[in-house]
Parts: sequence; structure tokens; C-alpha cells
Amino acid sequence: MQTIQDNIQAVEAKVKEAAEKSGRKREDILLLAVSKTKPVEIIREATACGLTSLGENKVQEIMDKYEPMGEGIHWHLIGHLQTNKVKYIIDKVDMIHSVDSLHLAEEINKRAAAKNIVMPVLVEVNMAEEESKFGVKPEDTEALLLALSKLENIQVKGLMTVAPFVENPEENRVYFRKMRELLVDMNNKKIHNIHMDELSMGMTNDYEIAIEEGATIVRVGTGIFGERNYPHKG
Ligand SMILES: *Cc1c(COP(=O)(O)O)cnc(C)c1O
Repeated sequence: MQTIQDNIQAVEAKVKEAAEKSGRKREDILLLAVSKTKPVEIIREATACGLTSLGENKVQEIMDKYEPMGEGIHWHLIGHLQTNKVKYIIDKVDMIHSVDSLHLAEEINKRAAAKNIVMPVLVEVNMAEEESKFGVKPEDTEALLLALSKLENIQVKGLMTVAPFVENPEENRVYFRKMRELLVDMNNKKIHNIHMDELSMGMTNDYEIAIEEGATIVRVGTGIFGERNYPHKG
């Protein structure tokens, strides 16, 4: 049987190869293990292999797993975040990938200020402009960044996208490329307090392509933990 350790070895090899293809090193890429729906016993198999950065898309799951997983874990909130839930995770996560409105950013800023921290965030961009997806439209990114630049207790580290679900991952290459172009364009605007280095893009199906196009963070769930077990839905 294929173990989590086997899965990680396979993913690691592909991450390394794709990094080298884009003229970078394995260390330049963060492999975020997306542990949503997985219980802590299973997640520990991944952290034992050295994957200590974990991605969750629900506030509740971070709250449930935070204590049992203990110290040394870097939690990333990667899913849509409701304003009224920011307070629960503000002192638990290392990064919030899903900022897509000033309203949400202001709440994060307020809660971070109260804890005397500066929260690293990414702006989520709906690069393929899919109806069903969260994120700002590419053309609205600059306006949001301008507004965010005035908030002192958040630091915008980069951009994030969830690419379309496609059979052939090559179809997403264009969106990953546009994400990188957008990052470069935005940095060239020289907005006060905004210089972005991170591109969070690529999931199990397409992370190699994303890395080739400049991803610095890939979010891999199924490729590490296997299929997800949702209790009530498919
Ligand atoms: C679930 C999820 C992932 C991981 O998806 P896989 O296809 O299982 O790798 C990545 N990013 C986000 C935002 C997710 O919700």
C-alpha cells in the first residue's frame, strides 16, 4: 500500500524537478500540506516527514487541530474567511491566503493590532474569472493593494489563486503565467509598503506547472494524504 511517506517522497521529487526547471532550488518553494478533513493521527505522519506547514480551508478545523498538533506547526488559512471568524485564528496562523476584500483586511488588521502582531497575508485573485470562485478580479488587484498598504498590522506578502478544475493541467499554465505577470506589474507600481515575493498557486493536479511558472507556495492535499473523507458529501 502507498503510505503518506511514499506520497511525500513522490511529491518532493516532482517539486524539486519543477523548481530546477524554473531555475530555482527546492528550498525556494514551500510545500504546504493541505490537511483539511484529515484527523491529527494522519496529519502527524506528514509532520514526521518534515512537512510542518499545514493548510486548512476552515477556521473550525484549525481550532480543532491546533492544540492536539502542538508546537512547531505553521498553520495557513487557505479557504474563504468570514469576517466574524477572524478573531478565532488571528493568533494561530502564520499566513492568511484568502484576503479578497478591504472589509476582511480591516478586520484582520484590527484583530492583529489588538494582539500586537503584523499578520502576513496574500491577496486572492480569481484569475480565470470563474463565477463560483472567491478572489478579486485581476483588474481590481491594484485598488485593493492600495487600500491594504495603509493597514499597519497586515503585511501583504503576495498573491494567491485557485485555478480551474481541469483534466489537463497544461490548461492552467496560462493563468499561472498571468499571476506571475500580475505580481511583477504590481511590484512595479511601487505602492508604499507593498513588495510581494510570494505566489501561492498549484494544487495536486497542477502544482508542477505552477512551479514552472513561478509558484513559491504550492498547496497539496490529495497528493499527500489521498482522497478526502467528507462525512456528508462527496
Ligand atoms: C483543498 C484545497 C487545496 C488542495 O487540493 P488538492 O487538489 O487536494 O491538492 C488547495 N488549495 C485550496 C484553497 C483548497 O481548498
